[in-house]
Amino acid sequence: MIQKILLTKTGQEFFVKNLDQDYHTKFGFIKKSDLKKSNTIIKTNKKTEMYILEPSFTDKFKKIKRGPQIITPKDIGTIITETGINKNSVVLDAGGGSGSLSCFLANIAKKVYCYEIRKDFIKIIKENQKLFELKNLTIKNKDITKGITEKNLDLITLDLPEPWHVIKHAEKSLKPGAFLITYLPTITQVTQFVEQIKSSKKLFYLKTLENIQRNWIINNKIVRPDFQMLGHTGFIIITRKVLK
Ligand code: SAH
Repeated sequence: MIQKILLTKTGQEFFVKNLDQDYHTKFGFIKKSDLKKSNTIIKTNKKTEMYILEPSFTDKFKKIKRGPQIITPKDIGTIITETGINKNSVVLDAGGGSGSLSCFLANIAKKVYCYEIRKDFIKIIKENQKLFELKNLTIKNKDITKGITEKNLDLITLDLPEPWHVIKHAEKSLKPGAFLITYLPTITQVTQFVEQIKSSKKLFYLKTLENIQRNWIINNKIVRPDFQMLGHTGFIIITRKVLK
């Protein structure tokens, strides 16, 4: 479990797991008595200054265990803002994968159910659930194409190769007015999915989008976009249940 974050004045981060022993970095070591402090500046034995902070959800996110490719924070942001989920929402996420999306959703929603077909990935999701100390996340070893047990859901998120097999189950399990969000890496999957949604009587196709996020370097006279960026993650398809 991450207990403290150390941040150097040049922006390097260290994640401290054990407060009962000195913490060694390439800038020297921090005495264990200093690791008990928070929100102040501490020094290594080589006099390098570091801020010491309590870990936030996003700090822990940098340390999640990864199995299958995760949904990135920029795309999770869109899922949250487009659907408006909040502390009263009940959500189902499938497939769980590494649990990145499930954990982020559980940090906001009242309850999250996560379906994952593979037992080895369930282990990874459980480890990540522990990292974030999430009590409102229930992980099930289930194939979502066989059906959804939960009813009256405020949101279903799908990140799996053939989401069109889930449409008939989502129609039954979503609340009227609730959202189905599908995340797909290739546009051929998107067209196949959207075609099938358009023949649903209960789910209404709203839009497809992708997020392109570009970081900038702001450093004295060097003010420019970063040379490196994530070129493509996935397409987000937004649909809504419009009839009971
Ligand atoms: N959104 C996840 C990554 C999902 S990767 C994250 O952010 O971490 C896709 C996952 O879907 C894989 O783990 C795969 O095993 C699972 N999966 C594929 N088909 C499934 C199905 N029919 N039911 C449940 N899970 C499924």
